[in-house]
Amino acid sequence: MNYISLYRKWRSQDFSEIIGQAHIVQTLQNAITQKRISHAYLFCGPRGTGKTSIARIFAKALNCEAGPTPDPCGKCANCTKVRDGHAVDVIEIDAASNRGIDEIRDLREKVRYAPVEGRYKIYIIDEVHMLTNEAFNALLKTLEEPPAQVVFILATTESGKVPLTISSRCQRLDFARIPLSQVKGRLKEICKEEKFEVEEKALDLIARSGEGSMRDSISLLDQAVSFAGNMISFDKLVILLGCADEELLFSLAEALAAGDGAKLLDLLRKGIDEGRSASQVAKDLIHHFRDLLFAKVGAGAALELTAEYLAKVQEQSQKFDFARIRDILRALSRAELDMKWHPQARLVLEVALLELLEKTEVAEPVPPRRDGPVRSTSGDESKLSKIKTNWNKILDEVKKKSLYGYVSLHEGQLLDLTDKGQLIIGFRKGYAFHKDRLEEEKNRSIIEQVVNDLTGEKVKVAGVVEGVAAASTVKPAISVDVVKELFEGELVQ
Ligand SMILES: [Zn+2]
Repeated sequence: MNYISLYRKWRSQDFSEIIGQAHIVQTLQNAITQKRISHAYLFCGPRGTGKTSIARIFAKALNCEAGPTPDPCGKCANCTKVRDGHAVDVIEIDAASNRGIDEIRDLREKVRYAPVEGRYKIYIIDEVHMLTNEAFNALLKTLEEPPAQVVFILATTESGKVPLTISSRCQRLDFARIPLSQVKGRLKEICKEEKFEVEEKALDLIARSGEGSMRDSISLLDQAVSFAGNMISFDKLVILLGCADEELLFSLAEALAAGDGAKLLDLLRKGIDEGRSASQVAKDLIHHFRDLLFAKVGAGAALELTAEYLAKVQEQSQKFDFARIRDILRALSRAELDMKWHPQARLVLEVALLELLEKTEVAEPVPPRRDGPVRSTSGDESKLSKIKTNWNKILDEVKKKSLYGYVSLHEGQLLDLTDKGQLIIGFRKGYAFHKDRLEEEKNRSIIEQVVNDLTGEKVKVAGVVEGVAAASTVKPAISVDVVKELFEGELVQ
């Protein structure tokens, strides 16, 4: 027997099997029950979200011997013919393959013939936005005066490219990316039935890599089985996908946060030596920083990560400010594009990462401001001077309890003690990440406690970022010679 791909084998055959598009299933089933079937539907949405599957199930529903019915039997001649692709009344046209010229001409000639086997003639036109203008015009004529008993289902991944004259004559249904948890659920069902043993983490990775496309996720599972057999471990999957695993991603981001160019290149080299592709690493890194961005703006829940993973993401996101994440994402996206055509994709990524470091205002050692120079006070002068006098001790004590708290205090400048008891620490422009760190609950409360212990003053610590760029010394984190040396090996290859 010929091998049937998992995706074909597990393609949804009735509405109840459709995952993640409940609103669309409901609309179509209602249309049948209420006998309000449109002449034309426009299915819009990302690839692999069930557009063609639903179109075929709808065709069954219309032509089932027991129908039209919201629940086609799946067993009668009409249903099985649709399933096997033999139904003469269900005509599928792939506009992407030859832009539909011949098919649409054919369609215009035959559209008025009555259906042969079923009640309806159903035209399913996939990637309809790819039709030529000529084909669109021909289609438009048909849509303007649709023959009775003909239903058009136009599917597209790029609804913006479908002419308004066409889309305005269709009932539009928008398909959503399938939530990760639902993709995973479906994969689990398949694995159970097929007797595949897949590690939970591996399943997560497959579902994530599918990016909301059920088809891509199932195809990936198929590949994984061909590669690893019926037991799929996370490690094997990482090799198959050539993707960056969790540890590599967090370490790379860590090195970026620390401005450590040598570490960054070293991690990248190790990752690639272990069999990952540079472009996959770039892609995964973009995903990772997108995760950090979501966490940064408090939208972590939307990422559908495990609680443990999300906690790590949230922790790491503290090390970047919003603008920095945005810059990194921009640079990486640009690099990923460039890598598609550049013969030395890896080099493009390395350069992009190093350039990002150059843009980091590497914290040059700030002259100790142990006397806490004070610009102005709006609060109690004597209280402030008491804190000033004890500033050294405060720093030393904080250092023992919270290194991050210490670093942010050290990098900042004691500015003020307001009459509301706010102890204001100023940071230079571009150093907002120190402010963020200072204001983290954990660090802030340690500092406040130390101030209280050493001076008896109850203060609330708050950071401000100065409008003036006091020090704009931008220093490459890694010297040009080192870069040359590192790249030498690459360039001669
Ligand atoms: Zn049937």
